[in-house]
Amino acid sequence: MNLVTETFSGFLSLITGLRITIKQFFSPTITTHYPHQTLPIAKKFRGHIELKWNEETGKPNCTACNICAKACPSDCIVLDGIKPAGEKGKTVTSYKLDYTLCSLCSLCVEACPFDAIQHSNRYNLASVPNQWANMDLVQRYKDQVTRVGKTPYDPYAPAPAAAPAAEPAAPAPAPTAQP
Ligand code: SF4
Ligand code: SF4
Repeated sequence: MNLVTETFSGFLSLITGLRITIKQFFSPTITTHYPHQTLPIAKKFRGHIELKWNEETGKPNCTACNICAKACPSDCIVLDGIKPAGEKGKTVTSYKLDYTLCSLCSLCVEACPFDAIQHSNRYNLASVPNQWANMDLVQRYKDQVTRVGKTPYDPYAPAPAAAPAAEPAAPAPAPTAQP
């Protein structure tokens, strides 16, 4: 290759490179500046499980029936509940998840008859492993409810006082004899 051909080839290569650079310079930015920006999470994304609650009352849907714990093939759910004063059913008081064992199979979510758990959209967890071995989902529920301006449900609260009984009606006056 003589000098002229070599120079021409190098010049063409330079123009091609510059063309790409200039094109990218004026194109919209597609880089996401994580962690200041995040991409929207797909609805079907499976993060760790979390408790769901009634949007109006803030009360968790979980009745502590233990069906999810029995359905879990990895044995990573331990929960407890009580029957709050004045209520007919039980409510969850403790829900611990060993996330280090969880395979995100979703069997617990599918087994729950009360629509009380779902997968969270947390994808960027970072911590020491021991913390994930004992995730407190009731505490997470309380934090989430508080964040949206509601008061977390307290299953240990005393039953609301019963309304006072109505005053007995005054006896009707005795009928007077007609003349
Ligand atoms: S997603 Fe699967 S492994 Fe994880 S807690 Fe639920 S049932 Fe267990
Ligand atoms: S999450 Fe559902 S299945 Fe599990 S204990 Fe609560 S109500 Fe029962």
